[in-house]
This record gives sequence, structure tokens and C-alpha cells, in this order.
Amino acid sequence: MSVMAPKPGEVDTTHGPILYLESVSVSFDGFKALNNLSLYIDEGELRCLIGPNGAGKTTLMDVITGKTRPDTGSVFFGQTIDLLKLDEPDIAKAGIGRKFQKPTVFEKLSVFENLELALATNKGVWSTLFAKLNSEQKDRIAQVMQIIGLAEHWQQQAGALSHGQKQWLEIGMLLMQEPKVMLVDEPVAGMTHQEIERTAELLLSLQGERSIIVVEHDMEFVRSIAKRVTVLHEGSVLTEGTMDEVQNDPRVIQVYLGD
Ligand code: ADP
Ligand code: MG
Repeated sequence: MSVMAPKPGEVDTTHGPILYLESVSVSFDGFKALNNLSLYIDEGELRCLIGPNGAGKTTLMDVITGKTRPDTGSVFFGQTIDLLKLDEPDIAKAGIGRKFQKPTVFEKLSVFENLELALATNKGVWSTLFAKLNSEQKDRIAQVMQIIGLAEHWQQQAGALSHGQKQWLEIGMLLMQEPKVMLVDEPVAGMTHQEIERTAELLLSLQGERSIIVVEHDMEFVRSIAKRVTVLHEGSVLTEGTMDEVQNDPRVIQVYLGD
């Protein structure tokens, strides 16, 4: 952990996007998982990322969060924060949060305690967990429980929640960190139809205040939330546009049908 880790307030978006990836390439044993990829995400936007298996979606998220270092290219958070100079924990602290596909909530703890833990982890002070929460912290937890629709379940053990509720709790844990950018990998996999609709509402309610990048295979879901869609293929951006534009693009159809 470096002492110089930037804080979320330091992200400079006055002259353009919140996230810049330029000419990024990543190879694994000579295979290019990302190939000269460029991507720009605006502040507050909700971007959907689609593409067939192996297109490079997860690798892209790994690059943004510092898990994987690109061989070439640049990755900036706002105008000034060079993410290639930060390690994974510092990137998270700077305001980029990630929700993995599989929920990793603490099953034995209640909804409230899970959110409390996320707060403590965020501050890097584990003792916070055993100290009394101040009213500001309690308010924040209550607010997040409202946002994720689990206020009535605050005392319930996370292990007893439905699959969908666990996913929302995990989104809530991410929100406790107040990220400026949220990366969400396949949020609706395994959800019921109702849960999918609720997740769409949730993500739509979160945009604006923060930028969200959603990777998802469920096209009906993507259509329900998408403004701008980026299609990845063989490690590069194949095309970008509205859902209608990309779905009617012959190259996209070709890629999805396979050649
Ligand atoms: P997606 O998430 O779009 O399905 P990935 O980013 O997971 O695609 O993978 C892109 C390509 O890179 C795939 O062909 C995958 O097999 C390969 N790949 C990903 N991670 C590794 C790794 N750690 N070692 C070797 N190959 C990898
Ligand atoms: Mg993937």
C-alpha cells in the first residue's frame, strides 16, 4: 500500500471521461486476450459490455482494477490518476469498486453486519467493527439497505437470503465504499425474472452518481438498462452504440452466430 494513494475526491473529470483505456494489450503465453483496446467511460454513465466467451471482458476488468498489468497501453482514472502506477488495494481506495460474479457475502453475519464489515474494511481499520458506529455510519448503512431493498431483512443472516438478495447485498457492500466507478460482472446470472427486473431498477438508480460498467450475457436484461453498449471481440472493441444499433450490426450478428 502506498502512502500516495489518491482519494476519490481527487479524480479529475473536468476535461473528459472518468476512465480512459488507450491501446491496451494483454497477452497470455503469446495469446492476445486484449488487443490494442481503447475504451472511454464518462462520469455517471452506465455502460454495458457484451461479447462472446473469450472476448476479453473479464481481462478488461482485471486491467482496470489492477489485477492484471497490460503489456502496452495506458489506463487513466480521470485526467491525472495513472492506474498502471497503483496496486489493486490503492485502485479500490481511489474509487474503483468491483463486484465479482459469485457473491462473497459472509453467510453467518446479518445483512447489517455485512454492510458494517464493508465499512470497516474500507476504512482499513478492523477495530471499527468492534467499536460503536457513529450516527453518520449508521445512516449510511440504513441508506444502502434502502437502496438495495433489504431494509426489512437487516437482521437476517446473509446465508438465508435468496441468490438475488445476496447479489444485492454484495452491491450494497460495494456501495459502502462509495466508488466513483463500479464494475459489475454478470449480475443477473442465476436470478429469477423478478430479481432480474429489480436488479435493472437498482443499477439504473445508481448511475449518474457513479459510473457503472456491466458485463452481462442476458440480452433482455442488457436491453432493459442499456444506453451505450460496447461489443468486445477477440480482445478489441468491435463496435459501440445503442442496443438497437449493435444488435443490427452484421459484424455483431456474425460474431455471435460464430463463423
Ligand atoms: P471473457 O470474460 O470475455 O469470456 P476473458 O477475459 O476471460 O474473456 O478471456 C479472454 C481470453 O484470454 C480467453 O481466450 C481466455 O482463455 C484467455 N485468458 C484469460 N485469462 C487467462 C490466463 N490467466 N492465462 C491464460 N489465458 C487466459
Ligand atoms: Mg468473463
